[in-house]
Amino acid sequence: MINKEERVLVLIKPDAMQKQLAGIIIHDLSQLNIKMIGLKLVSVKKQLAEKHYEDHKEKPFYPDLLKYILGDFHNVNSIIAIAYSGEDAVNKLRDYAGKTNPDEADPSTIRGRYGKVNSKTHNFDNVMHVSDSPENGQREIDIWFSKQELVE
Ligand code: GDP
Ligand code: MG
Repeated sequence: MINKEERVLVLIKPDAMQKQLAGIIIHDLSQLNIKMIGLKLVSVKKQLAEKHYEDHKEKPFYPDLLKYILGDFHNVNSIIAIAYSGEDAVNKLRDYAGKTNPDEADPSTIRGRYGKVNSKTHNFDNVMHVSDSPENGQREIDIWFSKQELVE
């Protein structure tokens, strides 16, 4: 099923920032024929991280997930948040990101190409976040962006 005009939040995560992959990722995503409607560099604070990952609160990896997105594992103090809008944007972006576990992600995907299971932290260094539904896309964009920061 093709879904109309979905909104999706993409985060270029700390491992990708540390490896200077932001330009490559933004370039690659520009081929997907969806519209960028917001982009910014964010110094992530704990409260924002907790809000973003509130659905994962009960997971065993949750404390590490917060450390990861705060940049603690990669000595990085900012990440890039991008809001996209477009037809079937969730599927397009999630297919291109690849599976959550980078060891299982197809090499043609961004996570397969640039991600790794970190042997020191046992974290999934999986390069990017992509919203998993249009509802979560809208919810997450509202968390990360003000209305004024979006080009409608
Ligand atoms: P996503 O939508 O593909 O990003 O995956 P999820 O929403 O299920 O999980 C959110 C994030 O939590 C993932 O992107 C990973 O950073 C992390 N994560 C998920 N599952 C695991 C796991 O089993 N171990 C670890 N260390 N991190 C995980
Ligand atoms: Mg998810």
